[in-house]
Amino acid sequence: MHIDPESVEGKLSRRSFIARGGVAVALFTAGVPLLSFQKNNLMTEQNTYDVIIIGGSYAGLSAAMALGRSLRKTLIIDSGLPCNRQTPQSHNLITQDGVPPAEIAAIAKGQVLKYDTVQFIHDQALTARKIGTAFEVATKSGERFNASKILFTAGIKDLLPEIDGVTACWGISVIHCPYCHGYEYSHQKTGILANGDVAFEMGKLISNWTEQLTILTNGKSTIQAAERDKLVKHGINIVEDEIERLEHQDGHLRKVIFKNRAELEINAMYARPAFVQHTDIPEMLNCEFTEQGHIKVDAFQKTTIEGAYAAGDSTSAMRSVSNAISAGAMAGAMINRELIEERF
Ligand SMILES: Cc1cc2nc3c(=O)[nH]c(=O)nc-3n(C[C@H](O)[C@H](O)[C@H](O)COP(=O)(O)OP(=O)(O)OC[C@H]3O[C@@H](n4cnc5c(N)ncnc54)[C@H](O)[C@@H]3O)c2cc1C
Repeated sequence: MHIDPESVEGKLSRRSFIARGGVAVALFTAGVPLLSFQKNNLMTEQNTYDVIIIGGSYAGLSAAMALGRSLRKTLIIDSGLPCNRQTPQSHNLITQDGVPPAEIAAIAKGQVLKYDTVQFIHDQALTARKIGTAFEVATKSGERFNASKILFTAGIKDLLPEIDGVTACWGISVIHCPYCHGYEYSHQKTGILANGDVAFEMGKLISNWTEQLTILTNGKSTIQAAERDKLVKHGINIVEDEIERLEHQDGHLRKVIFKNRAELEINAMYARPAFVQHTDIPEMLNCEFTEQGHIKVDAFQKTTIEGAYAAGDSTSAMRSVSNAISAGAMAGAMINRELIEERF
């Protein structure tokens, strides 16, 4: 486990931990050697939180901002692998348009960790269990933490198609979302790696940004005849040849090379890869999932398990930094409200 140097708990002295114990400390010290009590109390204080947030990217940091400002002792556990890490520039977030994703997260982290109620550790949450109404989380580095509430903001892991070149181009010229990167490739030669109804829906959508559009079904097309006719009517090509690899330079697409040696020049390609949840802890705790594989939440980001909330990509197909921030802020406020309701 790495305690962030910015993090206040990392800097907190023994004296201030004892001071925080207040009356409880005074009541329980009778007859106990002071030094050994201080040690035990430190452990308890250090490992117990109002809220544990698993995933410290946009959704998690946004929730932590609301919770920290609500005076909630909050722990963020983050393994440092946000889904957009390969994208050179993030778009479609006002005030931060065109800024590298890591820079946006760094600004957020700097602002959140100014609140002495919030602690950030670089670690991976491995398991969690419910003990009564509380949660205990165990991490890869062997730490254990407890909290009244838990928030999942660990995002999703894209399962990229096994085509040589896709991984290198992901987030650079193989893209998932026209709102994030479509403008940069507007009116350019663009592919869509999809088949069936998804190919039709994406073809229709992306035709807003470019008229040089080819759907790559990578094998026999399963697009319905009526949909195929409509795509063709709008000048969208459909290529069924199987793809061998993508030719690119530093992630910038040049050509699609097909198994039959045919080639297609393109500058960008849209893909909607399958995904899995980044952590299986929500499953361990018996959270329900949607048919698409997102954690099921209500309008207040509450999961189907009492005391557990979720926000960001793990809960929504609307993948964007702004959406993650918004959902995180909602989750933070709703968790705080629940804690107030329980304790008032
Ligand atoms: C390639 C690409 C490019 C994109 N470009 C844009 C763009 O230009 N504009 C835009 O608005 N959106 C963009 N998006 C979407 C945007 O990145 C996501 O919607 C957003 O990152 C979701 O935020 P999140 O906090 O839910 O998850 P993430 O940002 O993915 O963060 C999840 C965090 O949880 C951590 N984590 C996972 N498991 C654990 C665990 N067990 N323990 C501890 N920590 C854990 C991860 O390491 C990570 O730091 C892009 C997405 C992709 C994939």
